[in-house]
Amino acid sequence: MLQETQTDQKRVAATGEQNSAYDFSRCKLCATFAASPKYKLKNTTVYACATCDFHFINHLDSLPPAPQGDVTTPLDRKTREYIEGKLPASGKQLKENMLLVKRHLSLSGSHCLDIGAGAGLFAQLLTEEGAFVHGIEPQGIFREFAQQKFGIALNGETIETQHWQQGFAGFFDVVTLWDVLEHLNFPAENLQNAYNVIKPGGWLFLDTPRRDTLYYRISEWSYRLGSGANTRLLETLYSPLPFRHKQIFNLNQLLELVGKIGFSVTSMQSSFFRSHNKIVLVCRKP
Ligand SMILES: [Zn+2]
Repeated sequence: MLQETQTDQKRVAATGEQNSAYDFSRCKLCATFAASPKYKLKNTTVYACATCDFHFINHLDSLPPAPQGDVTTPLDRKTREYIEGKLPASGKQLKENMLLVKRHLSLSGSHCLDIGAGAGLFAQLLTEEGAFVHGIEPQGIFREFAQQKFGIALNGETIETQHWQQGFAGFFDVVTLWDVLEHLNFPAENLQNAYNVIKPGGWLFLDTPRRDTLYYRISEWSYRLGSGANTRLLETLYSPLPFRHKQIFNLNQLLELVGKIGFSVTSMQSSFFRSHNKIVLVCRKP
């Protein structure tokens, strides 16, 4: 995801309203009022829930009120080159993700939705496989990039809107969330929203960082050893800047959540030891 841009700066200024409307003692996963500050970082605080141990920061992104008309930041040459420069690295991962998808179904003629489509690269890979592709991307500059580079029209309306929930209920063969859950304001609700637009027998593919890993434990130890002064490692995991990491699931929390929503888990990959390790899930709607 594009990080420091002018758009981000404007949104930082705009986030106050959204943040003050949410009571962060309410756990974003289990909805009990049992969360309290656990780690005070330089620019944000990590809350932990006493009921379910979910960890999340006290920040929500302010989404543009009229996404389709969001033309505040036209895609200039410098930004286009920046996004272009990031494509090879993300492309390598997304091509691996595509192999995973293709191990489970044939994409030709299927209806696919890529949520958090970014610059449109995965949507382009889906198109090359003969799929009918929809993509959601709230940041206007990425939508403009995808349009210019790949000729793909991404949608700025997020998954909880009527556009998707009513217009595409039970519609998609495949929904993908690559590196998206950790960025969303309300990941549990959005996974339910994703479930709603998948057809019976359809697939959900996702990856997201995992919290119960060695790296996270070391980050916590480092914070405690320094009596709260060593925030550096935790700050590599969370950030209050727009569209950065707001929460990190542990494996059981994510498996429980998808199960509660109604998915069955077809395959799961993860490991405790690798740094910045991810959970990769393949789920199916019955
Ligand atoms: Zn909780």
